[in-house]
Amino acid sequence: KADVLIVGAGQAGGDLASGLRQQGYTGRIVLVGEEPYVPYRRPPLSKTFLSGEATLESLFIKPQSVFDKHNIECMFGTGVESIDRETRTARLYDGTTMEYGKLVLATGGRPRRLSLPGADHPNVHYVRTIADILKLKEQFEAGKRLVIIGGGYIGLEAASVGIKKGLKVTVVEALPRVLARVTAPEISAFYERVHRSRGVDLKTGVGVHAFEGDALVDAVVLADGTRIESDIVIAGIGLIPNTEIAEAAGLTISNGIVVNLHTQTADPDIYAIGDCAQSENAFFGRSMRLESVPNAIEQARVTAAAILGKPVPYSAVPWFWSDQYDLKLQMVGLSQGYEQIIIRGDINSEAFSAFYLKDGVVISADAVNRPQEFMIAKKLVADRVKVDAAQLADEGFVLKTLLQ
Ligand code: FAD
Repeated sequence: KADVLIVGAGQAGGDLASGLRQQGYTGRIVLVGEEPYVPYRRPPLSKTFLSGEATLESLFIKPQSVFDKHNIECMFGTGVESIDRETRTARLYDGTTMEYGKLVLATGGRPRRLSLPGADHPNVHYVRTIADILKLKEQFEAGKRLVIIGGGYIGLEAASVGIKKGLKVTVVEALPRVLARVTAPEISAFYERVHRSRGVDLKTGVGVHAFEGDALVDAVVLADGTRIESDIVIAGIGLIPNTEIAEAAGLTISNGIVVNLHTQTADPDIYAIGDCAQSENAFFGRSMRLESVPNAIEQARVTAAAILGKPVPYSAVPWFWSDQYDLKLQMVGLSQGYEQIIIRGDINSEAFSAFYLKDGVVISADAVNRPQEFMIAKKLVADRVKVDAAQLADEGFVLKTLLQ
């Protein structure tokens, strides 16, 4: 019997296993993961791993020896197929079963797939796993025509690597602007200018209609009839949380596996964390599902505390980053519902910040190549600091004074 059975050995699952040990947990921990690797960092997949700057080994969060040293039993390359809550057992892919005391679902998500005919041709790629990138890298060569479907972070990061590596890059975004779900029109416009100026053919407000080609996708046809010849297609059109085993076990699903402030489902012995979890957040007073490394790390910490009987509520302010070309974007908070956006610095330069205000309070910020300002912005958002818009926009005004 596993005292704690962790399903999914990604950022959240791996962190939980080591976090429990760090906090002195002595029970039997079993970490089961579908992928044949120790838990690894996904952010470099669309950045330095795709570009070839980062090695495979550098992705691993901790080497296997650390899991061994901490007596964390790892089962990689297999997974949990189903859960029986009555007998408190999990059935693995090979048909064997394992009893659990506490079960933690850290199953992440999978890329939303294109449903067009031709979408399963071998030059159509997704960007989620090491395996995806190893396959993509075989074709990712200078001169190739790369068509990226989706102008979100993953699509734009892949575009930036494509340009760096000398590919001919087109990005197609169905919405009127890139990064539409996560940022203000001003910031989208900034990124659109950046990508176009580096040579990306960026098409917004137009969807993909069809693929042409028998064995490979030779061309992508857009809804307006435009035909773009392609050697490689990447789809970055969102994530579907892996909730099926939770759902089959009768747990509540609503955009993700529903959990409370302590990452616990309605079954007190089952938790869900990371990209797969729709979680209560005390800071916002509502539930949400986030897809970010800081969220996975924080939820692993909250779950470890709950399992150790020292519960702390989940109340983190979300933050995220994205690297494109030589631009480091860092974002904090949720900008939905903002009333005013204040730009600090010159939005036509490549270092500025955008602050989102509601009732005069900073609810979110995006910093481009301004890491120090980002650190301050994080505190402003966490402390719900009320600011004077004119002061905020004035670069002569020392931002730090707002924290006193
Ligand atoms: P995952 O890391 O997806 O891990 C879940 C694991 O569970 C997977 O290995 C999966 O195979 C396994 N699994 C699923 N079902 C089962 C099962 N039934 N049995 C066993 N195992 C199972 N976040 C940032 O903050 N900043 C970034 O810059 C950033 N860039 C990113 C770039 C890319 C290309 C991608 C894909 C993600 C990026 N993210 C970024 C998001 C971040 O990587 C995720 O939010 C994070 O990995 C979530 O961790 P997780 O443990 O919840 O899920």
